[in-house]
Amino acid sequence: MTEKSMIQILVIEDNPSMLKLLQYMLGNIGYDQVTICSSGQEGLIWLESVDDTQTIILLDLNMSKMDGIEFVRHLANRQFKGHVLLLSGEDERIRETVHKLITNYKIASLGHLHKPVNLELLSLKLEKWRQFQPKESITNKKQYSANELRSAIANHEFINYYQPQVDVKSTKVVGVESLVRWYHPVDGIIFPDQFIHIAETHGLIDDLTRAVIKAAFTQTKAWQKSGLKLQVAINISMDNFADLDFADYLLNATANAGIMPSDIVLEITESKLMTSSSISMEVLTRLRIHRFSLSIDDFGTGHSSLSQLCNIPFNELKIDQSFVHDIINNETQRAIFNASLGLTKQLGMKSVAEGVEDKVDWTFLRSTDCDIAQGYFIAKPMPAEDIYPWIIKWEAAHHL
Ligand code: C2E
Ligand code: CA
Ligand code: CA
Repeated sequence: MTEKSMIQILVIEDNPSMLKLLQYMLGNIGYDQVTICSSGQEGLIWLESVDDTQTIILLDLNMSKMDGIEFVRHLANRQFKGHVLLLSGEDERIRETVHKLITNYKIASLGHLHKPVNLELLSLKLEKWRQFQPKESITNKKQYSANELRSAIANHEFINYYQPQVDVKSTKVVGVESLVRWYHPVDGIIFPDQFIHIAETHGLIDDLTRAVIKAAFTQTKAWQKSGLKLQVAINISMDNFADLDFADYLLNATANAGIMPSDIVLEITESKLMTSSSISMEVLTRLRIHRFSLSIDDFGTGHSSLSQLCNIPFNELKIDQSFVHDIINNETQRAIFNASLGLTKQLGMKSVAEGVEDKVDWTFLRSTDCDIAQGYFIAKPMPAEDIYPWIIKWEAAHHL
């Protein structure tokens, strides 16, 4: 049995001639288990009788009785485990939004195709079905209590990983971003999305941030001693800047570690709605005067916005990964990316693109005048001791 004949394809489309055409096209590219339905209601009845993990639904968005969006909600309610590929004559932004909606429902989306459907593109999208598993829901992950976190901080269970950043033009490694990991004695490596928000809401973020800073500063000095000049970026929660002493703490910590403020980039995002208070503005401006770099993280999302650029003297802007990865295939992303890049040029800021995940992203980026790149294509975050060997390999591969 071939892999293709293990998959059941359900086509839902209310235009009879289009339905026939799709069935014919699918047969042509080797899919022989195809069921056709002319409405969402019919499709839902059919789904009752099959193993949906082996099912791909080709879904038309614009149908007269139950439209595609309504149908997707029914799929979410019945916790559909298969895959969906959208077909529509609507423009890319509408198709992209529905694709995101499907993903938000934790349903695996194979993306979208413009109608009339191109046979080659249809075949390519369908072949990827194995790679597209729904993202693990955060609610399925273990929840940690504030007390567990508190004792983990006291027991020094947090370790900084570092992800390289390279200069887009020269490909030279210019810095690293510190990303904290929790080495849980029983559960293994725990990622920040499972504990940062707990630290922020239970008054533990100051202690956690200070542990991260201490380790990062010591590491910066160690790299300098071995001849590696890297700017080290640290993620700081906006809550940390509510304390007037935080600027002095950072200044003392750099002096104690024997490094300069200009060796350090402070990456700032707001996790919750909070207009910059005069205290945080004071702390941030003092840090900038003392030559720490201030970077606005996840630019373009949530509260990381234009008004923040006005209020805080940022000198670096990180274009969020949602605008970078797969940029070549998305016109809206490209427009937002270019606008953000334009802003950095007009304001004299350094630009960093995160989420450079594959060779296509990297090639695109190299055709722009973005300054710095970071992402899985270059390197994943790694323990400090792996950075030096990785740089040697990267430089050899790029003839540096
Ligand atoms: P962030 O600051 O936006 O960091 C980038 C995240 O994207 C990291 O996830 C990194 O591993 C991941 N990443 C890097 N390259 C790629 C790529 O090419 N594709 C994709 N899809 N992802 C990529 P991580 O390490 O899980 O950290 C998540 C978030 O946790 C960080 O997002 C940051 O906001 C927060 N965080 C991490 N360390 C700290 C810390 O020490 N303090 C605070 N307050 N927050 C931290
Ligand atoms: Ca960051
Ligand atoms: Ca970011």
